Amino acid sequence: MLYEGKTKIVEIRGDEAIVRFKNDITAGDGAKHDIFEGKGSICAELTAITMGYLNRQSIPTHFLDFYPPNTLKVVALRMFPLEVVVRFVKTGSFIRRYGGVEGESFSRPVVEFFIKDDARHDPMVCINHLETLGIASKEQAREMSDTAIRAAELLRGFFQRAGFDLWDIKFEFGLDGNGNVIIGDEISPDTCRLRRKEEIFDKDVYRHDIADPIERYKEVLEACRSIVSQ
Ligand code: 5GP
Repeated sequence: MLYEGKTKIVEIRGDEAIVRFKNDITAGDGAKHDIFEGKGSICAELTAITMGYLNRQSIPTHFLDFYPPNTLKVVALRMFPLEVVVRFVKTGSFIRRYGGVEGESFSRPVVEFFIKDDARHDPMVCINHLETLGIASKEQAREMSDTAIRAAELLRGFFQRAGFDLWDIKFEFGLDGNGNVIIGDEISPDTCRLRRKEEIFDKDVYRHDIADPIERYKEVLEACRSIVSQ
């Protein structure tokens, strides 16, 4: 079974799946779209590095193996149609919704759930509504929230060692064959906000036409490679 999304192609092989990262980059619910040579391999390797790190810290992710340049072997998951965002500072849609000062820290991480639905612009959803909508049980929602916070805190430390501040991050979750709630999809500069002082190293570079995203993404990859090889 083959599924093609905006940035990846997934082939299910029984309990496992093969994920091939494409060179496509999109923003604004798919309204903005470009192709950058090398982007798929950078995001695949960064997903392998970050998810490998989470696996070693006992946070379950779907990552099993990396086949360079741009392919991962993963656990096949039944995905929840959700984006789970953890925020350490005010930015992006948080400021658009509630106002506030760009980059101002929260005293503790904030978790938000969004339904993946481009046509409705990924509406934010209250955790209590997930059961009513038939998307996830209360227990599953609680587990996603707790795991997302723990994973985000671990990755914040990881990226700090690589020289970047993690401002926020988006996770996607699924169920494995035994009903365990596991982190799926990808973790890369496409799915989080990474800053070094005023400089932007994530998809905002592309969203706001600031610089060549590949140059910035490469810098993140090289810094992360160097801390895992230490
Ligand atoms: P915001 O809600 O502020 O737009 O995004 C919060 C975080 O989640 C950012 O790191 C952003 O990159 C990520 N994020 C939110 N929606 C999406 C999405 O549809 N696709 C991707 N790749 N990341 C998203």
